[in-house]
Amino acid sequence: EEFVDHIAGGPTTRTLQQDQVGAPGGRFAGRLVVVTGAGSGIGRSTATLFAGLGAEVVVADIDIASARATAESIGPAAYPYGVDVSDEDAMDRFADWVVDEHGVPEIVVNNAGIGLAGAFVDTSAKQWRRVVDVNLLGVVNGCRAFAPRMIAARRGGHIVNIASAAAFTPSDLLPAYSTTKAAVLMLSESLRVELAAAGIGVSAICPGIVDTNITNTTRYAGVDELEEKRLRRQASAAYHKRNFPPERVAAQIVFAVEDNKAVVPVTPEAKLAHTAYRFTPGL
Ligand code: NAD
Repeated sequence: EEFVDHIAGGPTTRTLQQDQVGAPGGRFAGRLVVVTGAGSGIGRSTATLFAGLGAEVVVADIDIASARATAESIGPAAYPYGVDVSDEDAMDRFADWVVDEHGVPEIVVNNAGIGLAGAFVDTSAKQWRRVVDVNLLGVVNGCRAFAPRMIAARRGGHIVNIASAAAFTPSDLLPAYSTTKAAVLMLSESLRVELAAAGIGVSAICPGIVDTNITNTTRYAGVDELEEKRLRRQASAAYHKRNFPPERVAAQIVFAVEDNKAVVPVTPEAKLAHTAYRFTPGL
C-alpha cells in the first residue's frame, strides 16, 4: 500500500507492509489510546486495531450504546464513555475521567464526525453551525482537552485528527463538510508545529470514500424528508460499492502514529473514489 504525503513533506511516498499491521507482539502494549466516534466505522476499527496491537483503548461516542458495543467486542482493555465532542465542558470532564481512571493517553484520535451534503445556497446557518460544531470544534475540543495533559506528562505521544479527501477536493456537493475538513487540516498542521517541542506528533488523515454508516447520519440541505431518505439510500449504495474498508483507514492511523511525523496519508484510489462520488448522478 502506498501513502502520499499531500500537505507536509511534498511528494514523498512511503510503503506500509500489510503484515506490519495486525501482527501479534503487542507493539502498543502499555499505551493508552483515546478514540472518539468509536461506536462505528473508522473509529470502531481504529480502537479494535490498537487493542489488537496491545493498547488499552478508551472508546468514546455520543451514542453510548454503540460505544459499549465496541468495547464489548474488543474485551476488557476497552473502556466505553458517552460524550458529545461538540460540548467543550463535557470533553473536559471526559479528559479528567480518562486521566483519573486510566492515566494520561499517549495517543488521541479525534475521529467523531458527521456528514452534510447539499449546495451552499441550500445550506442553512443552523446546518453550518452543527457541522462546524462537531467536525471542527469537536476536534478542537479533543485537542484542548488532551494536549495540555499530554504536555504535562512529558511522555510525548501523538494526536491524529480525521479530516477527509474532501478537505482538498472542491465540490458542489459538500461545501460545508469540506470546509470543516480543510480547517481540520490546518488546525493539525498548526498544532504539529506547536507540539513538536513537547515531542507530540500531530497527523491529519484524509480518507476518500470509506464503507461506514456515515451515510445514515448525513444530513441533506434543501430537500424534504422523503428526498433526504432517497439520497441517503443512494449514497449508502455508492459507499458500499466503493468498498474501501474502515480497517484500512485504521491501518493508516497506526502508520501515522508509528512514523511519528506529520503525514496526511491518502491512497490514490481513495482520492479517485472521492472524485467519483462527486459525479454520482442525483447527488
Ligand atoms: P460513522 O458514522 O460510521 O461513525 C462516526 C461515529 O461518530 C458514530 O459512531 C457517531 O455516533 C459518532 N459521532 C457523531 N457525532 C458525534 C459527536 N458529536 N460526539 C461524539 N461522537 C459522535 O462514520 P465514519 O465514516 O466512521 O466517520 C468517522 C470520521 O471519518 C468522520 O470524521 C468522517 O467525517 C471521516 N471520514 C469518513 C469518510 C467516509 O467515507 N466514511 C471519508 C472521509 C472522512
